Amino acid sequence: MQSFDTIIVGLGAAGSAALYQLARSGAKVLGIDSFSPPHKMGSSHGESRITRKAIGEGGEYTPLVLRSFEIVDELEKLSGRMIYQKTGGLMISNENSIAIHHVENFFKTTIEAAQTYNIDYQLLDAADIRKRFPTLNIADDEYAYFETDAGIIKPEIAISVQLDLAEEYGAAIARNTTVKSLQALDNGKVKVETAAKTYLAAKVLVTAGPWLLNLRPDFAKYFSVLRQVLYWFEIEDHYQAYLPDKFPIFIWDGRPSLESRYGFPALDGRDGGIKIASPRYDPETTAETVDRTVSAKESEQMYQEQVKPFFKGIGGRCLKSAVCLYTDARHSRFGIGSLEGESDAIIYASACSGHGFKHSFAVGEALGQIALCGESKIDLSSFGFDKLEAKQEHES
Ligand SMILES: Cc1cc2nc3c(=O)[nH]c(=O)nc-3n(C[C@H](O)[C@H](O)[C@H](O)COP(=O)(O)OP(=O)(O)OC[C@H]3O[C@@H](n4cnc5c(N)ncnc54)[C@H](O)[C@@H]3O)c2cc1C
Repeated sequence: MQSFDTIIVGLGAAGSAALYQLARSGAKVLGIDSFSPPHKMGSSHGESRITRKAIGEGGEYTPLVLRSFEIVDELEKLSGRMIYQKTGGLMISNENSIAIHHVENFFKTTIEAAQTYNIDYQLLDAADIRKRFPTLNIADDEYAYFETDAGIIKPEIAISVQLDLAEEYGAAIARNTTVKSLQALDNGKVKVETAAKTYLAAKVLVTAGPWLLNLRPDFAKYFSVLRQVLYWFEIEDHYQAYLPDKFPIFIWDGRPSLESRYGFPALDGRDGGIKIASPRYDPETTAETVDRTVSAKESEQMYQEQVKPFFKGIGGRCLKSAVCLYTDARHSRFGIGSLEGESDAIIYASACSGHGFKHSFAVGEALGQIALCGESKIDLSSFGFDKLEAKQEHES
């Protein structure tokens, strides 16, 4: 039986980051993935992810993203590839907003985090927003937080770079291989079984994204797997205004609905369109059963409700779309750590809830530190599974 210091189950955002960090620190590490990452079956595809420094989902996330910015810089230098693109970030809200982007008080918490961590930002009123971003149809009661360093992370490139570097540092990768079971042994080690092989590891990191529930069906009490659709709509007019040097990433609270929308500048030329999405919180699905097709009716509805009223020059032709999965916990939390009463050699990380990519570099580093030394430099205790609210507790 082959033996490793650490085995990582799942090489998406979090797993590829952990593999890179562990390999770099000289550990004997194996990463296993059911597919050949980066791939389009989980949560880490779609060409772009928003990154921002002041985190409205809670002050405890900001140290993770700030460290992630540093790691991304290091990865870009090592690989010569661009992972982060600075565009600035515009978070639009209004006094009467009932929209919730991931958590309540997102806007207020974002400003508090910016002040706490000395992050460069400006507050804009409706007139300021219209002047700077004339293609947005801004209502009189809307205002915005603008963050200078917010921008785009390229998820597929980030994963490829970290896997390539991990291999250069000596990591082993088993692609197209599914872990069937994990068993904590009396000697403290963990037996990891795939269809073809059985491995032993001192520590196992489970970063299985939406498939986590296959390995831990009991986690269904914490997490919902949710179908999300990304849309690229054609730019009919004002193309220059949508280019990344003029148009930022944005998160825009709905008015007057509960929905929010977010999106990106035109990254792929005039014919590439702009990518816009609106987070969806029901119904639950699974990675196996999710409908991965997007109907014409669905994209037409998205255009009429979330695009046409808000953006000048964006046409209704949907150039492409992609289905992606959130693994969502209540209040958009992350669950990271081992489980009380179980072996501490198995460490689970579900750090998604629709906002995990920007943090994944530091989450991977922290997971590596836990695997090697039992604790991480950035305190992850507020993300422990004991802190997660069970779904049924909320519903009752
Ligand atoms: C539409 C959408 C938009 C988003 N927007 C943003 C954003 O703007 N900003 C942001 O920061 N975040 C965003 N996120 C969240 C972010 O993308 C996720 O948090 C992140 O991709 C989650 O990565 P992961 O590693 O947990 O899961 P995944 O990337 O899904 O990786 C899990 C991996 O585990 C493998 N696996 C699973 N089970 C097994 C097994 N038994 N054996 C072997 N391998 C296994 C899978 O094949 C997969 O490769 C968005 C997510 C979606 C879906």
